[in-house]
Amino acid sequence: MLPIERQQQILTWLEQEETLRVSDISKRLQVSEMTVYRDLKPLIDQQKVLKTSNGFTLIAQSYNSSNHCTYCYKNVNPRLSVQLIKKNQHVEQACCPHCGLLRFQDIENEVSQIICHDFLKDTTISAKIATFILNADLDLNCCQPQVIAFESMKHAKKFQLGFGGEIYGFKEAIQAITLEMHSKNCCD
Ligand SMILES: [Zn+2]
Ligand SMILES: [Zn+2]
Repeated sequence: MLPIERQQQILTWLEQEETLRVSDISKRLQVSEMTVYRDLKPLIDQQKVLKTSNGFTLIAQSYNSSNHCTYCYKNVNPRLSVQLIKKNQHVEQACCPHCGLLRFQDIENEVSQIICHDFLKDTTISAKIATFILNADLDLNCCQPQVIAFESMKHAKKFQLGFGGEIYGFKEAIQAITLEMHSKNCCD
């Protein structure tokens, strides 16, 4: 089987079964797990397939269908956007990490993955391991308190040198946003 045929086969199985482990795919296709990873890599890069704690799963086709934030209904800015991939395979979009994190807090039990974009490189990263800067001195015209995501702490620190703001991990960022929302009367 050619790699492209294996990829097609993997996609078909994922459509039918939702989640597959690399070991399962490797057995069924009778190729090494290394080969399976190599076959999956382009599918992950094209955002068709997602790695989860249980294996690999298909990203629902609704991925790009909605341009509105599920939390505040603003238009989604692709560069700031956050995707919440739910256990039922549905995907919710948030306009920015501010809404993404607050929405996550509301529906945490339903979410299998939360994905955001590195602000500098525009790469896709898991929000759970991202670094966030709150209240940087750079107005991106989205929600307040403004939250920006970075893949690496090093980049976040460099950004902070120029634009200020406070650095947080995933959980701390959610707490900080919630606190700040409660301490202010105004809200849009
Ligand atoms: Zn929003
Ligand atoms: Zn926003």
